Amino acid sequence: MGTWYDGRMCTSDNSLLIRKSVREMTPYVPGEQPRLPNLIKLNTNENPYPPSPAVGAAIAALNPETLRLYPDPLCAGLRDKLAALFSCTPGHILVANGSDEALRLCTDAFVENDGTIGYFDPSYSLYPVLAAMRGVPSRPVNLWPEQTWKMPEGYSCPLFFMTNPNAPTGMLFEKKHIKAFCETFPGVVVIDEAYADFARENALDLALTLPNVLVCRTLSKSYSLAGLRLGFLVGSPTLISALYKLKDSYNIDRIALALAEAAISDQAAMRANVQRIIATRERVERALRGRGWDVCPSETNFLWCRPPAGRTAAAVFKSLREQAIIVRYWDAPRLDAYLRITVGTDPQMDALLAALA
Ligand code: PMP
Repeated sequence: MGTWYDGRMCTSDNSLLIRKSVREMTPYVPGEQPRLPNLIKLNTNENPYPPSPAVGAAIAALNPETLRLYPDPLCAGLRDKLAALFSCTPGHILVANGSDEALRLCTDAFVENDGTIGYFDPSYSLYPVLAAMRGVPSRPVNLWPEQTWKMPEGYSCPLFFMTNPNAPTGMLFEKKHIKAFCETFPGVVVIDEAYADFARENALDLALTLPNVLVCRTLSKSYSLAGLRLGFLVGSPTLISALYKLKDSYNIDRIALALAEAAISDQAAMRANVQRIIATRERVERALRGRGWDVCPSETNFLWCRPPAGRTAAAVFKSLREQAIIVRYWDAPRLDAYLRITVGTDPQMDALLAALA
């Protein structure tokens, strides 16, 4: 037995080689991806419809020979397309391996070692995990019990993550509130718009006009490409170029780049799927309310809802599971009163309503 690099005696417990903050952190728990036949999967906000046919055509056109070569580290083709879509320059855009990577890069770029990371509670449960990964404290702003907008008064920290529409509530914060917050907030505000294509409005213009605002988007939801892993940030070229220093050199592979370009080029296909999902969402929202459920007004592809008195969310979750329907349930204080139900196809949602009856 010798000593570890820092002078401690070597023991058989090699976990001491792991950074203290990593040893002690609780990891993010993604929704389960069970491989069961005939399962109705309404737990991770995936899109129930296929992506644009242009994506299929791009797959067919892929030449394996090109995989000998590294992909474009700057994703120029895709950034050109996104810049045209959002009327900005490619310098306003960073492409990431899923929006989760984009969010993580922000913690590395904008938070000093003695900084903190802010976000609303409830919102995306990854944010406190990102703070733990970065080894800094979290500063959640409590939105309970209403779960609606509250101005984080006198609040200051280097980085604030704001999901809009919010998750898991599905509710949209009004842009005038967000704008007022961003205009006075002294740090970077990342508006995580994973679900914005399902909402009435978005804050993209704030990212293009305010120097401290970035908007984060993903192809995982509205574009039906969760399996591709493609997200992006839009905002001031000063902030975006800092993130480029930190990303993996080749963070987007050639296949993902080709398919993402195809998906972005077909806005009509994305919009059509979004409209179908919104119509189903509104129908299921009404049906659940009619049965006494408390359903938050959703501007996303999921419903955050509480069963009527006499039924607990835990019991409903279990019963649905036994009927091969999985929704999202968090066994955690306050969240445990609710279920988050992804909007699937009409037949899937009819099966859900029948199973709940
Ligand atoms: N932000 C929010 C609010 C989400 O719900 C999700 C999906 N879990 C993500 C980001 C991550 O999306 P992506 O698949 O692009 O990593």
